[in-house]
Amino acid sequence: MNATTAVTVRVPAKVNLQLAVGPARDDGYHGLVNVFHAVSLFDEVTVSAAPDLRPGTAALSVDGDRPDHVARVPLDDGNLAARAAALLARETPTATGVRIHLSKAIPVAGGMAGGSADAAAALVACNTLWGGGVSRTRLLELAADLGSDVPFPLLGRTAVGTGRGERLAPVPVRGTFHWVFALAEGGLSTAEVFAEYDRLRPDAPQPRLDEELVAALAAGDALRLGAALGNDLQRAALSLRPGLGAVLDVGRDAGALGAIVSGSGPTCAFLVGSPDRARELAAALRDSKECADAVIAHGPVPGATVV
Ligand code: ATP
Repeated sequence: MNATTAVTVRVPAKVNLQLAVGPARDDGYHGLVNVFHAVSLFDEVTVSAAPDLRPGTAALSVDGDRPDHVARVPLDDGNLAARAAALLARETPTATGVRIHLSKAIPVAGGMAGGSADAAAALVACNTLWGGGVSRTRLLELAADLGSDVPFPLLGRTAVGTGRGERLAPVPVRGTFHWVFALAEGGLSTAEVFAEYDRLRPDAPQPRLDEELVAALAAGDALRLGAALGNDLQRAALSLRPGLGAVLDVGRDAGALGAIVSGSGPTCAFLVGSPDRARELAAALRDSKECADAVIAHGPVPGATVV
């Protein structure tokens, strides 16, 4: 494809290494300390000019290896990638209508921020297609307007988010960490998981960054990192989906250094010490029949990139 008429952006999924959730604020959001880590599960978002569509409007299509996940992606203006294109068009005089094709590998409604990743990718792709007029700083602001999890996939690597999770600072990491993700049948609604969290934990304290986790990342120490992983939403996700307890147990019994629900779930994340251990753990998870599938990834990886 010609780069002037079509742009493809590759964008990673995230796993939360620490997700500390404070009490609900007056505006309805929760104060968060959220350590995001970008892993090598990538969606690809391709945009091309569609002169038959009004500027800023989008026609969407989607494909991917998992039909049950692909079927849950909305193809109307509820899709975060379409909303990103519309928002960027408002400040881009050269904006056109666009066709947006999503090639999904990130689990849908899986707690790995796939929709947010696609929105970040659409911002970068449309900005490139339309002549790159919007600065990176402004793209990050637009991303924060689209959702708390949208700025991080622009950055990638590892970063701590504060506020409602959208104010980001990079976190230094040494080396590469190896992960296995257990995919679930069906998704979990992030809003429902937060509501369950409020029900279970009405007295949540103010969230704080775990300094031991930060030290483990800087040292590149998988053993320490595994022990420091934490997710305040895990109890709520397990309450709504009790079967995830058995998935976590399979991973722990098979020797994972750390086992947590990813974000709001239902994907479970397992840290291991090497690519070989990752392959073994993925096989153990698949054999257990406690999850729909298991995939291997590593992190940190860069954020949204034009390919
Ligand atoms: P998060 O971790 O940010 O809460 P998630 O990974 O649990 O998100 P997503 O894959 O982002 O969940 O999808 C959540 C819902 O968003 C889906 O059920 C779907 O209806 C909607 N959605 C909107 N745009 C997209 C998109 N581009 N890809 C996937 N889902 C999307």
